[in-house]
Amino acid sequence: MRIDLHTHSSVSDGTDAPAELVQRAAALGLDVVALTDHDTFDGLAAAAAEGERLGVRVVPGIELSCTRQGSSVHLLGYGPDPDHPELAAELRRVRGGRMGRLSGVLAKLAELGVGVTEAEVLEQVGDSPSVGRPHIADAMIKAGHVQDRQEAFDRFLADGGPAHVARYAVPLERGIDLVHAAGGVAVIAHPWGRGREHVLPEALLGALVRQYGLDGIEVDHQDHDEETRDRLRALAEQLGLLATGSSDYHGTGKLDHELGCNTTSSEVLAELERRMAAGRAIRAPVSP
Ligand code: AMP
Ligand code: ZN
Ligand code: FE
Ligand code: FE
Repeated sequence: MRIDLHTHSSVSDGTDAPAELVQRAAALGLDVVALTDHDTFDGLAAAAAEGERLGVRVVPGIELSCTRQGSSVHLLGYGPDPDHPELAAELRRVRGGRMGRLSGVLAKLAELGVGVTEAEVLEQVGDSPSVGRPHIADAMIKAGHVQDRQEAFDRFLADGGPAHVARYAVPLERGIDLVHAAGGVAVIAHPWGRGREHVLPEALLGALVRQYGLDGIEVDHQDHDEETRDRLRALAEQLGLLATGSSDYHGTGKLDHELGCNTTSSEVLAELERRMAAGRAIRAPVSP
């Protein structure tokens, strides 16, 4: 079985529509694909319908923007109830922050001599409810300021870069609680990618397992080199965490990471689905 548990559609900052993404998964011979758009569930219905039609199992998911001591952490949630009131409210707040930071980023870019208008960015966003930096990058490409998304991040948009503006994200511990309260399974995406090891050291991951019931960590991911993957795999084993793998596919904006370029084992998927089924039975409210 070929299983890819982390992908993005045009409902956030990927480029394939949800149904197209599932079609591509089918064409590439994948058996299971999770759609995990940033901070929105809007693509899940279309992806599920196409999966049904093509015989691809579509795992419903989300990639939730979280924060831990001022640094960004991405949390994958599998199977949470999209209508859970507190989770839905928090997602609205995060999406509001995404839109709210846009004028700040554009002002910084203008100061740096990179003229891009809000209308040009919104044209790239289309009808996605989740405005992301990759959309800003796409507008910069179209206006001829950079060659590709990576150049836009490296020169301007990366965390701490000259045009970076912070936005609201969910405190990580609260994010895990919200995913669980909504009946989902919580897996930290690319925990040690892009120099993030100091944000999520081993001791903290251990505490998140013991105190918050963190379910898993992504191990096989493009942002982890082989040595990092080996260390994370050993840590997952030691802490009893599910170790997942994925492409973090974003479509043609990042075609060097094709669907299925990293995968998850069928044993890990079986346990994840067992927890999703158990979660559906215990969906509960959490306090703010
Ligand atoms: P945002 O959701 O606006 O915070 O943007 C996050 C997305 O931008 C991530 O999912 C990645 O696809 C991309 N991204 C973030 N940092 C970088 C980076 N340093 N280089 C390339 N892409 C990045
Ligand atoms: Zn993304
Ligand atoms: Fe991510
Ligand atoms: Fe992602």
